[in-house]
Amino acid sequence: MSKLRFRVVETAFKKKAATVETPAERPSEYFAKYVFNREKMFKYLPGAVYAKLTDAMDNGAPLERAIADEVAAGMKRWATELGVTHYTHWFQPLTEGTAEKHDAFVEHDGKGGMMEEFSGKLLVQQEPDASSFPNGGIRNTFEARGYSAWDPSSPVFVVDDTLCIPTVFIAYTGESLDYKTPLLKALSAVGKAAVDVCRYFNPEVKKVVAYLGWEQEYFLVDEGLYAARPDLLLTGRTLMGHEASKNQQLEDHYFGAIPTRVAAFMKDLEIQALELGIPVKTRHNEVAPNQFELAPIFEECNLAVDHNMLLMSLMRKVARSHGFRLLLHEKPFKGVNGSGKHNNWSLGTDTGVLLMAPGKTAEDNLRFITFIVNTLMAVYHHNGLLKASIMSATNAHRLGANEAPPAIISSFLGKQLTQVLDHIEESGNDDLVSLAGKQGMKLDIPQIPELLIDNTDRNRTSPFAFTGNRFEFRAVGSEANCASAMIALNAAVAEQLARFKQDVDALIEKGEPKISAIIEIIRRYIKECKPVRFDGNGYSDEWKAEAAHRGLDCETSCPLIFDNYLKPASIAMFESTGVMTRKELEARNEVKWETYTKKIQIEARVLGDLAMNHIIPVATEYQSKLIDNVYKMKELFPAEKASQLSAENMKLIEEIARRTIFITEHVNAMVEARKVANKIESEREKAIAYHDTIAPMLEEIRYHIDKLELIVDNQMWTLPKYRELLFIR
Ligand code: ADP
Ligand code: MG
Repeated sequence: MSKLRFRVVETAFKKKAATVETPAERPSEYFAKYVFNREKMFKYLPGAVYAKLTDAMDNGAPLERAIADEVAAGMKRWATELGVTHYTHWFQPLTEGTAEKHDAFVEHDGKGGMMEEFSGKLLVQQEPDASSFPNGGIRNTFEARGYSAWDPSSPVFVVDDTLCIPTVFIAYTGESLDYKTPLLKALSAVGKAAVDVCRYFNPEVKKVVAYLGWEQEYFLVDEGLYAARPDLLLTGRTLMGHEASKNQQLEDHYFGAIPTRVAAFMKDLEIQALELGIPVKTRHNEVAPNQFELAPIFEECNLAVDHNMLLMSLMRKVARSHGFRLLLHEKPFKGVNGSGKHNNWSLGTDTGVLLMAPGKTAEDNLRFITFIVNTLMAVYHHNGLLKASIMSATNAHRLGANEAPPAIISSFLGKQLTQVLDHIEESGNDDLVSLAGKQGMKLDIPQIPELLIDNTDRNRTSPFAFTGNRFEFRAVGSEANCASAMIALNAAVAEQLARFKQDVDALIEKGEPKISAIIEIIRRYIKECKPVRFDGNGYSDEWKAEAAHRGLDCETSCPLIFDNYLKPASIAMFESTGVMTRKELEARNEVKWETYTKKIQIEARVLGDLAMNHIIPVATEYQSKLIDNVYKMKELFPAEKASQLSAENMKLIEEIARRTIFITEHVNAMVEARKVANKIESEREKAIAYHDTIAPMLEEIRYHIDKLELIVDNQMWTLPKYRELLFIR
């Protein structure tokens, strides 16, 4: 083993689990310790200010300047008691991460000294010099100003010495430059549309919110080994590496005992997450070696998204302090499962009803069916768009790769719910509608079995599965901001619910009783969106053929999938719900294509470098040793015997020659292909070129590198191998 590699492997294996002290308090006591939540608002703000602020949080009422000043003063008092010296507007630009610019609380006091200052103005609005965030051309440098503004529906929190203020990030011309702005608009649209529909069933409903419960998958690797893998360091995934002889085939990792070092990391992470108000609950080993999952209790969607962003950065930090590096990439290792982030999504009312859960009465169940069927309609009409919302250069490795959701969006309902929908679809208008219309008669909505809520019926291959009281959007990538998927889904459902209300009202106006009008429209919808329902094996080739036949979007090329955002139906949907304008959608797509290109470009460069300065030199050196051996054999033995004894080595020498030539030629060809692609002006066309010509070359080159890894002397190989990277002890 090379000296460097020996050292890192050794230290990795010697590392002991860091001990994590359990806090003296219980989780319920330290939960949200670092969050300026209602409890602290109540304590630190005057009564009238508290009332106005909670109104802004709950009902979106605008915050007056005078109130903002008092809120800021209360916040500052709370934060300084925690030793905080700085504040930042914490926002989510169109990269996958978060951005922050820290300012100290200090200001000139006008007498030559300094004083601690934090005004309402600074709380509510900031102007980050953000011309270097992706904006898709919306902000040319001459109008480079953007501003960030506080989102009071997500509470302020403290990390280290900094008060973090969740904000939206907008161009001066009004277009959104982040994920939060359109998310808030989509959530408000779906809330309003859902309230209107809920009132058919219960006029008391005043508010509907969307919930999100994400399940975060991730890998851990030892930091010493990570440091010796430039590809992991620079791209987040291994660009080469032969499969270990043992990986996940024994299925011994999933739900297995958590290694001690990892358990210490998890414990530490959970304590810190709870202190930040993230209600983490579940932890377990995942399918692949070194793969794990963490899930909180679901929350209102906007807060859940912020908490996921915060958690991802917290995980990175805590992993480091335990001698690990965290891998959030969707496919860090070839040949073992990749990581996703299931988005469990539902709608709920202020009257305490989960709209995607069956109820006890026939009316409840009609409401339940109404929301299920409208969701299916939204997913059907925007299946291509939903796929675009989860697509990225990194998630592309996972989709359709026989382990994670296929690259076709369909919905699994399970046997019982399918039967219910079939029954409604098939029963004649006469019996169903006339029964429905009569006073006091029971609706002919079939009994919904209790079992349904227990959700025993599962299909792991479905990208959008109904799981008892919610839908689980499983195609979201582990590294992604959940907001992207949640914007598309909530906006699409908002559009659909509005359409439903129009359709039902039209029948009512014609004199149809309300309930029978609802049933009739639902029956029509069940027929219409049938192509999106699929309970079979989503990985099978038959499904690919069948899905194409049904008219579902089967595109697999990432840059082309992004086109879905600019289809007339998508633009109409986003504009009618007030979520995004055509201009914003166009700008965002520019960013998506550009990001795609850059990611592949970086991978190609890293692979080229590693091939030329790690792989080829080592393989050639080993080859020279073999050649040396062949010559020496000739000196030792008579010619015929020598060539007999050297036959295998001669084959290896040849194989190394063949493979190194292939690698060198293709690395050169890849450089040329990049030069050609880089000249293309259109971001879309450039991304297509990178997808069609450069990305496949990465795989071809890797194939030969991985073959070399198998034959070259282990002592000489400089990069840690899968068998070392993937097994934390
Ligand atoms: P799974 O069996 O899918 O792994 P988990 O219990 O690990 O389920 O995680 C499911 C996630 O779904 C959790 O975050 C949970 O809080 C969330 N969840 C449960 N019910 C709902 C709901 N009605 N709406 C949204 N999320 C929900
Ligand atoms: Mg799940």
